[in-house]
Amino acid sequence: MLGAIEAGGTKFVCAVGDATGKIIERIQIPTTIPEETIVQVIDFFKQYPIKGMGVGSFGPIDVNRDSPTYGYITSTPKLGWRNYPIVRTLKETFGVPIGFNTDVNGAALGEATYGAAKGLDSCLYITVGTGIGAGAVVHGKLLQGFSHPEMGHILVRRHPEDTYQGKCSYHHDCLEGLAAGPAIEERWGDKGVNLVERSEVWEMEGYYIAEALMQYVLILSPKKIILGGGVMHQEQVFPSIYKHLKNLLNDYVSLPELSEYIVRPGLGDNAGIIGALLLAQQAIEER
Ligand code: ADP
Ligand code: ZN
Repeated sequence: MLGAIEAGGTKFVCAVGDATGKIIERIQIPTTIPEETIVQVIDFFKQYPIKGMGVGSFGPIDVNRDSPTYGYITSTPKLGWRNYPIVRTLKETFGVPIGFNTDVNGAALGEATYGAAKGLDSCLYITVGTGIGAGAVVHGKLLQGFSHPEMGHILVRRHPEDTYQGKCSYHHDCLEGLAAGPAIEERWGDKGVNLVERSEVWEMEGYYIAEALMQYVLILSPKKIILGGGVMHQEQVFPSIYKHLKNLLNDYVSLPELSEYIVRPGLGDNAGIIGALLLAQQAIEER
C-alpha cells in the first residue's frame, strides 16, 4: 500500500492506493496553516500500513537532493508555508521512502503512465487553475534541471485588446499573471464559472494559452499536450486555443490534428493523486 498527497493551495488530497493507480481511500483537507493541515494528513495516513509516500506539491519547492533545504516548500506567497519542510515532517513521522515533486510533475507522470499520454515517452501536462504550471516528461522521465521548470511564468505577447495589468506578484503580466483563474476573475469582475456566456473571456484565454503552447511546442516538441486545472473545465477555451495556435505556428511544424494533440486529462481530476502514488513507488525503487 502506498500513500499519496496532492498538496494544493486550497486543499490537500490524501489517498492510499497502489502503483497500478488504484485508489483505496481518499480524503480532502483544507489548506490552512501547516500546523493544522499536516496534523490531519498524519492522522489519515496513520490508519494504513503504507510502504512509501509520494507528494506532488504546489510550489516552488526544493527538489535538489544535494540542497540543505531539499523537500521544502520555498518561496510561496501562502502564509506559513514558506520554507516549510514537508518531506522531513512526513519522514520523521512515517519512516518510509518519500517521493517529492511538483503537483504538475506528478500529474504529468500519472498521465504519461496511465492517462492521455499512455505509451508515449514524452508529454506536457499543464494546469490552469489558481496558478499555471507545467510538468514535462522527456525520454520517459520528468524534466528537471537545477530545479523544476516553472513554465507558468513565461512571458507572452499581450492580446491587443487587453489592458489588464496582470496578477503575478513576481512578474505582473507573465502567463500566470494574465491567464490563471484569479487573473480572469480580476480582469472580468467575476469568477470563471460565472462567465460561461461571455465568449470574449474564453477567446482571450485561448489566445494566451496558445501563445504559451507555441513556445512549449517549439522548445520541447512534446508528443502530447494535456490541459488540466479548474479553468480548463471551460471546454469552450479549446477551439480558441486551436485557432490561435494554428495561426501562430502557420504550418511551420507539422502537428497531429490539434483536437487529438491537445487534450483533457485522461485521468480527469485524478491525474495528480495517481501521479503521487507513482512518485511513492519511484521512491521505494530508488531506495
Ligand atoms: P487549484 O489550482 O487551487 O488546485 P483549481 O484547479 O480548481 O484549483 O483552480 C481554481 C481556479 O480555477 C479558480 O480561480 C477558479 O475560479 C477557477 N475555476 C474552477 N473551476 C472553474 C470552472 N468550471 N470554470 C472556470 N473557472 C474555474
Ligand atoms: Zn510570474
